[in-house]
Amino acid sequence: MSDIQLLPAVVEFLARPHGHFIEGQYQAGEAGPSVDIHDPSSGTVISRVAEASEVEVARAVLSARQAFKGSWAEVSPYQKGVVLNRLADLIEANAEELAQLETLCSGKSINLSRGLEIAQSVVFLRYFAGWATKITGQTMTPSLPSFGGERYTAFTLREPVGVVAGIVPWNFSVMIGIWKIASALVTGCTIVIKPSEFTPLTLLRIAELAVEAGVPAGVFNVVNGRGQAGQLLIEHPLVAKVAFTGSVPTGIAVGKAAMAANLTRATLELGGKNPAALLADVDVDGAVAGILQTAFVHQGQVCASPERVYVHRSKVQEFTRKLGEALGQLKIGSALDPDAQFGPLANAAHLQKILGFFERARASNTVVCGAKALDRPGYFVEPTVVLANDPSDPLLHEETFGPIVCVLPFDDEEQLLALMNDSPYGLTASLWTNDLSKALRLIPQIEAGTVWVNMHTFLDPAVPFGGSKASGVGREFGSAFIEDYTELKSVMIRY
Ligand code: NDP
Repeated sequence: MSDIQLLPAVVEFLARPHGHFIEGQYQAGEAGPSVDIHDPSSGTVISRVAEASEVEVARAVLSARQAFKGSWAEVSPYQKGVVLNRLADLIEANAEELAQLETLCSGKSINLSRGLEIAQSVVFLRYFAGWATKITGQTMTPSLPSFGGERYTAFTLREPVGVVAGIVPWNFSVMIGIWKIASALVTGCTIVIKPSEFTPLTLLRIAELAVEAGVPAGVFNVVNGRGQAGQLLIEHPLVAKVAFTGSVPTGIAVGKAAMAANLTRATLELGGKNPAALLADVDVDGAVAGILQTAFVHQGQVCASPERVYVHRSKVQEFTRKLGEALGQLKIGSALDPDAQFGPLANAAHLQKILGFFERARASNTVVCGAKALDRPGYFVEPTVVLANDPSDPLLHEETFGPIVCVLPFDDEEQLLALMNDSPYGLTASLWTNDLSKALRLIPQIEAGTVWVNMHTFLDPAVPFGGSKASGVGREFGSAFIEDYTELKSVMIRY
């Protein structure tokens, strides 16, 4: 099959002058610096977006602040849920347009944009909408002594923190954006979101749909630009919370900038070097299918995906042979080709980073398969499996954020745990075994925000997600997000 035909709406949207979305209006942006947007499947420029100036960032924050105090505060919790559900309906109704836009900017397979990114954004949005009427405080009976017969009662209120600065990466710009937008809006906050310079378009279109859904002007703003636009946003004194997803180095800078700005609270969803452990009783075929799917989906550019795989020595040969054979069968092709099973990396800078890892792997490791760029336009490389030399191998420790799996054998569980935990990161991990008691004994000892058994990278809106150690601060989903987007106010009454 070949590339799908673009919808006329997508062609028209690409041709528009793009900038920001402020005060309920699409803005072309000031005449000034702009960023070219490339299609990773061909490397060609498909559109351009203006970079936000300090004045534009301030205008977006001010409009969010006014809406926080005014229009959004006047909307009842029930109605907030209705509006968010309406936005979910509109995203669903415009799913193909949004999926095509996202695929064009990110290089994500059109199947993945349709079936996961856009479809799951709708599921998450509806889940969050359900929280609108369920965010409550508590009542408590104070234990103060009563000297003159007086009594006391107390309760807590969960109040929205205010304007949220959402900063999101390029790998799942819509889905990660929706997590932050929905968390902010359902708790009564308003948001200014900055997408990555590589994937700025789809959230702009969603901001238009939000207005159509009934979100008042100023509640949901988008500013575009490079890191500098994010920095300006964080430093604005009217920003009450930063919700960031991205790499560890940027996350550390963002956390420091937020603290320095105004002691602004920050949640940080950061990178990982996630281990998968195949125990001696592993179903090898099941694990090969699972690792193939989760380590190589979106060309490995998934924060939660397994990059280091520890395999019981008795199963190493069978696992690596079968994984290498399965990867060799993948059809590599354009992100817009629904038959392609493996596409391009997201941008030219990331391609260079991955080629650097390949060079090191070819120089120092046994390469099972891949470790080469493809000779074609765009940012294509081969899916890659390498054997680690020993536990200190850099390929077991540095996040590649690409289609590279590094395999190391282990002999016993004590050694396995030491290997799994030998990382500054702690985002996700998985165990592949049918021995339930072994899995339940290991899980509490694994240093990770999420542990899966016989699967990896399975996110559900009801299950909290976030990192331990250097993989982040805070949790998204479940009820856990409420704490980060609200302030707890205590009220005491003497009567
Ligand atoms: P970056 O950290 O480079 O960028 C993330 C966002 O921050 C982008 O919008 C970027 O803008 C912006 N930014 C860059 N510099 C600054 C700054 N000084 N102040 C404020 N904002 C800034 O990450 P990537 O986009 O490269 O994404 C890949 C990383 O994200 C990986 O490490 C991955 O593991 C992690 N990630 C974590 C997830 C999680 O849930 N834990 C989920 C997805 C990804 P611009 O792009 O324009 O530079």
